[in-house]
Amino acid sequence: MNLTEAKKALKEYFGYDEFRPMQDQIIQAVYDQKDAIVLMPTGGGKSVCFQVPAVTMPGTCVVISPLIALMKDQVEGLLSNGIKAAYLNSTLGTMEFMAIENDLLRGEIDLLYVSPEKAVSSDFIRLMQNIKVNLVAIDEAHCISSWGHDFRPEYTRLNFIRKHFPKIPIIALTATADKLTRKDIEQLLLMNEPERFTASFDRPNLSLTVRPGRQRKEQIIEFVRSNSGKAGIIYCLSRKQTEELSSKLNGAGIKSAYYHAGLSSRMRSEVQEDFINDNVPVICATIAFGMGIDKSNVRWVIHYNLPKNIESYYQEIGRAGRDGAKADTILFYSYADVTMLRDIITKNRAENEEIQLSKLERMQQFADALICRRKILLNYFSENTDGNCGNCDICKNPPQIFDGTVVAQKALSAIYRTRGKTGMTLLIDILRGSRRREIQERGYDKIKTYGAGAEYSIYDWQTFIQQLIQLGLVEIAYDSHNHLRLTDASEEVLFNNKKVELVKMTAIMEHRTKSKETTYKKTKRERLRDALFERLRALRKRLAQKKGVPPYLIFSDASLEEMAARRPTNIHDFMDISGVGRKKLQDYGKVFMKEIHDYVLEQSGQGMRIKGSTHLITYDYYKKGMNPEEIAEERGMSPVTIYSHLASLHDKGEDIDLMQYIPTRDFENIQGLWQQNNKISPKEIYENNEGSLEYHVIRLSLSVLKRKGNMMF
Ligand code: ADP
Ligand code: ZN
Repeated sequence: MNLTEAKKALKEYFGYDEFRPMQDQIIQAVYDQKDAIVLMPTGGGKSVCFQVPAVTMPGTCVVISPLIALMKDQVEGLLSNGIKAAYLNSTLGTMEFMAIENDLLRGEIDLLYVSPEKAVSSDFIRLMQNIKVNLVAIDEAHCISSWGHDFRPEYTRLNFIRKHFPKIPIIALTATADKLTRKDIEQLLLMNEPERFTASFDRPNLSLTVRPGRQRKEQIIEFVRSNSGKAGIIYCLSRKQTEELSSKLNGAGIKSAYYHAGLSSRMRSEVQEDFINDNVPVICATIAFGMGIDKSNVRWVIHYNLPKNIESYYQEIGRAGRDGAKADTILFYSYADVTMLRDIITKNRAENEEIQLSKLERMQQFADALICRRKILLNYFSENTDGNCGNCDICKNPPQIFDGTVVAQKALSAIYRTRGKTGMTLLIDILRGSRRREIQERGYDKIKTYGAGAEYSIYDWQTFIQQLIQLGLVEIAYDSHNHLRLTDASEEVLFNNKKVELVKMTAIMEHRTKSKETTYKKTKRERLRDALFERLRALRKRLAQKKGVPPYLIFSDASLEEMAARRPTNIHDFMDISGVGRKKLQDYGKVFMKEIHDYVLEQSGQGMRIKGSTHLITYDYYKKGMNPEEIAEERGMSPVTIYSHLASLHDKGEDIDLMQYIPTRDFENIQGLWQQNNKISPKEIYENNEGSLEYHVIRLSLSVLKRKGNMMF
């Protein structure tokens, strides 16, 4: 086995032209019969690392995977790519089990997914002894470690693999493993000097945004409306919040459902199915949601509350954009959340309380940060990056430094005059001169700084006060209703005019709202592309419903986007789309090409000039049985142009009989020249015959000869 074969399989079965970083090295290690540990982020492309070996090596690859719900999905995905796959777990009846066993014994299965419970049973070990297993892949391998949060006791019994089958290579894959976990994986699986692969954890297609957690529901409604129809998850801290938010969204005409551990398992799987099948686009969920699903077209993830640490945050946003297409993430941040999380941690009196608190602090620093957020994340995972990412809120709207002494004085003075008895929200309302009743009742509308900061928005004030906290000029009394307090350092600013530098952040959302008022005009090209994408998406949904599979298993969003941008209408171009392998082309090529074809013709019928459409129009007339002269007449073009359309359609693999337009003698003449030199240009042929051959005859003949030539090799 070598990588050339692997690459061929990658295109044939998965429709991808290139391996992602590390995939090829990992596959090579498997071919070399070595054990391997693979650490790759969610969506990084772990599956290909064992699936490509599985389809290229003789025998069966056994995949041990803890998530039964995922198994069915994964196997369906493989089948839809023309790969022979099956799964064994407790949901199968005896008959089904026996049928699969038979297929296995006949060597007719390339990939077999097994739950850990099943895998460690003596029946299964016996079955493994009777078939040729070429590789054992352990997915979610961190489940083996009791250090991790997903510990599964059955995983520790997987050492049977090495004991019973010392020669079969083992590949262990996971997206979350610290050093200790990795060591556990190696030791408990009895791995033999495994090769270790750690891919970058960067997910450049995910945008990162942090917003102040004020009026979150309104912000969310606005965001979801401008992303209408796209699937997303909103993570909330409490069950109640998921229900409230979902009902608010539904009230605003946004189809959504909620999901949490308090629902019956039937309800939960219903919500999950509706989400997977693109029936309900928005799910408000506690963190439990998303574990057992492989949906690749989640287009956004919102955190309604601050997550408790960066690991969870990254894992949760990682559920967006697994197909590699653009996806958005938004984190709402408020100090109240920090307090709440602190309380939860300290109340639980967990033994690792210290660690948890410091992790929370790192999370908070991330939310407070004024430098590229991706840099912070990657640094957190010990990965160094140069340069800014260009796809986070800070990079998109770099903060501007200004002399913030007066701003700081206003805030500090307001804290002073309210005697440290106000939290952030109330303080901002005082500064902005709000008419809230509470302010009047407490007499805060009489103090000197009331309304002194009306020129700044709430958002601005939030970011200013956050910075004052970071600068040590303000403190939060966590033990006293999160009231803001002065510090020793504040006096210098308040009474001695000590200079304070602040940065002004532009709220991306405000920015957006404003630019929406002036309405961003899409270019004609973008409008065409987006409308076609919607049509292809609708087609995908219809096909998925008919087949009873999730839409993203037919084609990923990334593939549809590429189709919408490139508008392939022949096999040649269609195969070039990333994600189109042989089976998908066979099963879906025709319908999708027809949709694109119809769309292009409709648009050009309405006077749109679309690249490639003129060929299609000619082709349609050709298929109706008109000859080139008639088509030229009908279209008001010259016959030479029509011939050249037909030749380029033929070049791209369309079924067009060009020979009928070429006089036999001429063809033989040109063929003779071509056989001597197959690089000869039309011009050379023309000159060689002193102009006695018509130019279009040369063009048509060369098209025929080239295709014949290609078929011979
Ligand atoms: P993981 O298991 O690491 O979360 P997957 O194996 O599900 O990730 O892969 C994530 C997505 O990336 C899938 O849609 C997969 O088809 C796609 N993918 C994998 N390898 C490649 C590749 N070489 N080129 C393009 N897309 C790929
Ligand atoms: Zn950035």
